[in-house]
Amino acid sequence: MSLYFDVLTIFPQIILSYLQESILKRALDRGIVDVKVYNLRDYTMDKHKNVDDYPYGGGPGMVMKVEPFYRAIKDIKADGIERTVVMLTPQGRTFNQAIAKELAFCNKRLLLLCGRYEGIDERVRDLLVDDEISIGDYVLTGGELPALVMIDSMTRLMPDALGDEGSALQDSFSTGILDFPHYTRPAEFMGLKVPDVLISGNHKAIEMWRKEEALKRTLERRPDLIQKHKGALP
Ligand code: SAM
Repeated sequence: MSLYFDVLTIFPQIILSYLQESILKRALDRGIVDVKVYNLRDYTMDKHKNVDDYPYGGGPGMVMKVEPFYRAIKDIKADGIERTVVMLTPQGRTFNQAIAKELAFCNKRLLLLCGRYEGIDERVRDLLVDDEISIGDYVLTGGELPALVMIDSMTRLMPDALGDEGSALQDSFSTGILDFPHYTRPAEFMGLKVPDVLISGNHKAIEMWRKEEALKRTLERRPDLIQKHKGALP
């Protein structure tokens, strides 16, 4: 099973550099994920390769032009492969683990549009976009980090992407609640001991402790999750 992304940006290096390290690099090398990065400036028609212009109606900042997006998306889609065109925008639906799963297993390539400046001409949204994603209620300078957030979180859901298969399944939100606390050696550090049960070798007791701790932690920090997933909790 593989995931396919196309990313349209004026800063391809931001995307490419992140993909050259760690789990993402390994997933790319092993064909678990494929990411093609396109430079929006390659789809401009003027000699200065302008991708932005002044806003109609005045006001601060620049707006990304519709034509380069139109040409780029038409060109990328010319291979006939079905894609969902996703605009990264603070005005989109808020990304979370459920949306990561939904998009990772929808069997469609995602074409991610990264905005800059004041945003993208509204006609791109009207004519070319299938879905809009925000990664949270704050405003970044560009859509590259949000695109990477999506690629990263969706890649780790793929079978074989992580070294340890169970890892993604026990993560916070995958179970509907937060993850339990983790410990590794040493067994004691600055007077703080690893809970006895974790070194007891009693797998049933360990599993029970982890479930309880995950619930306790979720109740303390994110009681809203308990409400939301009442029926499905472990
Ligand atoms: N004026 C826009 C607004 O208030 O909705 C914000 C533009 S922002 C400075 C420039 C670009 O960064 C956006 O077009 C979008 O691609 C990206 N961006 C910024 N914050 C984001 C977020 N929270 N989620 C997804 N994309 C974001």
